[in-house]
Amino acid sequence: MATRPSIYAAFAELQRRQEAELRQRQQADTILTPEQIGARTGISTARLLTTTLGGQRRAITADDLKLFKARAQELGKQYREGLTARDIIDQSAPADRERAREQIGAAIPTRLTAGAALFTTPAGPASKVSRHMVTVTWPGYGAAVSWPGTPLQAAKVLAEQPLKFDCDCEHHRYRHRYIATVLGANAGRAEPGFPKITNPHLIGIACKHVMRVMVALESAGVRSQLAQMIAADRKQLESPGARKRVITVSATEADRLASAKPKAIRTTSERERLQAVNAIRKAMPKAAGSVSADITRTLKTLQGRQDVTAQALLAALNTVLKTGARA
Ligand SMILES: [Zn+2]
Repeated sequence: MATRPSIYAAFAELQRRQEAELRQRQQADTILTPEQIGARTGISTARLLTTTLGGQRRAITADDLKLFKARAQELGKQYREGLTARDIIDQSAPADRERAREQIGAAIPTRLTAGAALFTTPAGPASKVSRHMVTVTWPGYGAAVSWPGTPLQAAKVLAEQPLKFDCDCEHHRYRHRYIATVLGANAGRAEPGFPKITNPHLIGIACKHVMRVMVALESAGVRSQLAQMIAADRKQLESPGARKRVITVSATEADRLASAKPKAIRTTSERERLQAVNAIRKAMPKAAGSVSADITRTLKTLQGRQDVTAQALLAALNTVLKTGARA
């Protein structure tokens, strides 16, 4: 069973963490601003800042700024109103997927209300805290609520729609929030400061916690929680004055979700490769069967012949039959 993260007072703790993070951010004085990257004479104000571009930490040069500007513009052109869970898995860095596979076994949909879901996940082994909170919002939530069908059918549609996300961990904060902001997929506060030290090449998009959540969105357990949220919002629209419903997960349900085998984290191309291998495996017994029938027939005609060629053939074909049986 995967370590089940605590679901206790997750929203209140998330708000405290976000306030503390915002205070720190407001005091930070080494942020590389969009003005500095974009300005023609930006180097005069950016000179005191450093980057790890090229491996070593050193002062930012005019060439660095040009490169940052080109990368930022390139990323900005890919802007969309949210990304699908599949997009996020496919664009993630292999190292982040590996960390999610090894360290983050569960993502519990802890609190859902009006198109916003808060997931709790365990923290990695080196973390200062014991859990992390991942927020997911859907820009097209209204369309899912109106989807013709049961809440569960609408939940399936919702889970595959473009979404925005945020994680309270430092990996997201320092490496990916800028990328998610520029791409239009950030659900938390915007981050316009270029990650010149932590991620100057702008690699990846999601931390291990977000990754586990993206995969969890494909599971029946999470979809049933989404369905509850949709059902509540449909009902609320039918009764004016009704208070906004908040769906919270029970400890029993959280235990059940955490004890389920974690879903495999696979990019679309990894998935397609696996499907191809499985298709070949499925077709194999038939092929192997007809081949061995041919060999058995040949063996029968060779049986009893004493010449060297027949003996060598007999030995070779018997080996093929044995290896074929093992494969
Ligand atoms: Zn995270």
